[in-house]
Amino acid sequence: MALRDIADNAAVAAQLSAVIRSGKVVHAFLLAGGSPDGRLRLGNEFAKALLCESGGGDSCGKCLSCVKFDDGNAEDLIRISLREGRKSILTEQIEELQGRLLYKPYGRKYVVLIEDAGLMNEASQNKLLKSLEEPAGATVMILLAQGTDSLLPTVVSRCSTYHLQGGAGAGSEAREAAVALLREVLAGAPYYRKKQAVAALIERGRTDAGQVCAEFTDAFEEALRDELVRVHGTPKAAETGDRLLEAAAACAEARKQIMQGQSAAYSVKQLCLRI
Ligand SMILES: [Zn+2]
Repeated sequence: MALRDIADNAAVAAQLSAVIRSGKVVHAFLLAGGSPDGRLRLGNEFAKALLCESGGGDSCGKCLSCVKFDDGNAEDLIRISLREGRKSILTEQIEELQGRLLYKPYGRKYVVLIEDAGLMNEASQNKLLKSLEEPAGATVMILLAQGTDSLLPTVVSRCSTYHLQGGAGAGSEAREAAVALLREVLAGAPYYRKKQAVAALIERGRTDAGQVCAEFTDAFEEALRDELVRVHGTPKAAETGDRLLEAAAACAEARKQIMQGQSAAYSVKQLCLRI
């Protein structure tokens, strides 16, 4: 894959490609908005294109750098993301990054990809600001964030910002998961298939649990209600009515658990077990 293959944000991908081609690459980019998947895909492809040795404005897929990137072995790519079990990006992660930037890159430059830039707390952002203000050597930073609200204005002002398309992000994701889960419920599918239907949501739920899972329980409840209305008065009502009502009760229970601070991933899994 390359920037030219990005379908959901083709215009931004083309702009980023043009920036590389022009040779006027700034030190920091902020890719904001869009869906989490779309944002990460674009961030990855941009990083790969920046590191590519072909100089064509996009990744060639053939040079040593591209091959290593695809194998997950790109020496000059520094990826920063949320650590397991943490709710924010730690200042020590930024300190480690800054320590590493003191050394020369393997190739021409470092590319730093901060996957959850919006989850940096204020201390982490202030620390990062130093690197944004006085970049060490040839370093390009790519910050990915759902929006610019969670970032300090001083951080945003140091970045060249691109706003991504891709719908309502979490909202549409929650709806997709709700529809997928309803389909499995109606098919009488076993637990593992129901869990599969919400797998992406559970993964996301680990980072921004409350909002995503609240949206999901709303969307699932709505999907159940629509289905109840749809089957009402038809021969199917007897067959599926009870199952739908049970699912609605389990959904209400899951929402209550999340509101009470229970892990969102756990609550959604429990919901899948009970329906
Ligand atoms: Zn290449």
